[in-house]
Amino acid sequence: METMNWFAAVLALPFALAIGSFLNVVAARLPRGESLTRPGSHCMSCEQAIAWYDNVPILSWLALRGRCRRCGAAVSWRYPALEAIAAALISAVVLRFGFTPQAALYAVFVAALIALAAIDIEYHILPNRIVLPLFGVVYAGQIVLQPDRVLEWTLAALGAAGFLLAFALAYPAGMGMGDVKLALVLGAALGFSVVVAMMVGVVAAGLLGVAVIARHGSAGRKVAVPLGPFLALGAVVGLFAGPELLDVYTGTWS
Ligand SMILES: [Zn+2]
Repeated sequence: METMNWFAAVLALPFALAIGSFLNVVAARLPRGESLTRPGSHCMSCEQAIAWYDNVPILSWLALRGRCRRCGAAVSWRYPALEAIAAALISAVVLRFGFTPQAALYAVFVAALIALAAIDIEYHILPNRIVLPLFGVVYAGQIVLQPDRVLEWTLAALGAAGFLLAFALAYPAGMGMGDVKLALVLGAALGFSVVVAMMVGVVAAGLLGVAVIARHGSAGRKVAVPLGPFLALGAVVGLFAGPELLDVYTGTWS
């Protein structure tokens, strides 16, 4: 079983890289309302269409040293970085859950989180066009795949969203409704492990907020730190280590 999953994870790698490449397109185009399919990939500076051999995930960026082949304009390191993160996380999902319907659902979940985190970092939004369909797919998928845990998916979704909603109402400047809706998705995907995801996400965001204020003084308070990427980070921790961490936590106190 263990060996099988390693084999599956290696097999999944090229697909995971291709998904990462598509997530770059989503992150670059969806917030601007552009088509995801047309036109094909092109240089942002000279508009030159990018040939397939210059569009291979990670490798092309390295081969061209992060520049357009035609005009030499810099291509951000964030493109290969996102592809590498997508490849690592999606392969890790296959390694953990095998070639199963559950793994497919979690791969969709993780891929969407990567796109959402990238968009939130750049635009400070979590688009409804991704979050709402994602919630539908994840919640329905979990109910179909693990119907005996339907109460858990539902309670975790409402609990996580309610927790952030309370925050958003108390500090309207600090958080958006996008974060509340994303918490709904996290709960439906992770069940009770969402507790781990929320703790990791909120603590990590808080630490960065403290670091920003320490560096920039009181002006740092005005620097908005988007919560979405931290919730995504927490969700990954919750997905891979949530049950174990919850066991440690409850074991320590009982
Ligand atoms: Zn160019």
